[in-house]
Amino acid sequence: MIVIAFLAILGPVQGAWPDRVVRLHSEAPLIDGHNDLPWEIRKAGLSVSAMQLDRGRTSVLTDIPRLRRGMVGGVFWSVYVPATQTGDTAVRTTREQIERVKQMATVYSKDFEMAYTADDVMRIFKSRKIACLIGMEGGHSINSSLATLRDMYARGARYMTLTHSRNVPWADSATDTARLRGLSSLGVQVVEEMNRLGMIVDLSHVSADTMRHTLRVTKAPVIFSHSNARAIRDHARNVPDDVLRLLKSNGGVVMVTFVRSFVASSAPDVRKLADHIDHIRKVAGIDHVGIGSDFDGGGSLPGLEDVSKFPNLTLELIRRGYSDEDIRKVLGLNVIRVMRQVESVAAKLQGKAAA
Ligand SMILES: [Zn+2]
Repeated sequence: MIVIAFLAILGPVQGAWPDRVVRLHSEAPLIDGHNDLPWEIRKAGLSVSAMQLDRGRTSVLTDIPRLRRGMVGGVFWSVYVPATQTGDTAVRTTREQIERVKQMATVYSKDFEMAYTADDVMRIFKSRKIACLIGMEGGHSINSSLATLRDMYARGARYMTLTHSRNVPWADSATDTARLRGLSSLGVQVVEEMNRLGMIVDLSHVSADTMRHTLRVTKAPVIFSHSNARAIRDHARNVPDDVLRLLKSNGGVVMVTFVRSFVASSAPDVRKLADHIDHIRKVAGIDHVGIGSDFDGGGSLPGLEDVSKFPNLTLELIRRGYSDEDIRKVLGLNVIRVMRQVESVAAKLQGKAAA
């Protein structure tokens, strides 16, 4: 009785997950492609240390005790700024959010460490800390400037979603009126410069034509940091089957997301989400699936309510007969592979010997 009451208060502790789940999460880092906690901290108007993320914080879906219970190995923290911010205001806010992520790694250095490469992620994972990566959400963050793009890379951003909810002057969004039917010539230059720098191109939020255009011009694998399969749930934010087939030759990864309206029209849950993984595996292959929760940015499902619940998805994949190797790929090894390929394409384009 006492044990049950204890678990009811704390939720499942690491030891409460089945052995196979614990083993899989210790063999491969679970990398979450998209978490919006940095914007929640900004909205709360609190300093990173006042958030007391190490103590648990129920006003958000992400804190360190729950990341530990969820056996999370790494997170792409989104340095999202609203698409309503334009011009240099968006650039400034993005820089402030990058600083916020770095403060998180400094203030909670017992648990967090900044990661900028695939090797960093694996080293930090082996030291039992959580790797902190930076993802920019929307091309408005660079205000149509390749110099600003380079500056964001130098500050640590390792992916950029080409658009958020609105078009940018050089790329169409999935949720705005189609204007370019893909990328403009500046948009092509942005993708080429991201390839050269070693910044992952993220195609969540962009229109299907922008996805197709980008896949024609990119020299490195792309990700969808938080999107699902359109054949399972017909939503503009999800990936159509023809793009899933293009992704196979590109080498990229769709990181399935927990936003209810992208999972199912009604009654979404962890099983419905796994249907998306099944479908992406069927069309693109097991090498092209990952996880991008969107926790604290709209993601949360029955069974996947907060960062402590990720292993419920692992359990569901086990139930469906996925092999250990397949599950390790979905948890994080696929996106680690993408990072390595992006790094090696950049090294080649910069005339350096590949690492
Ligand atoms: Zn988003």
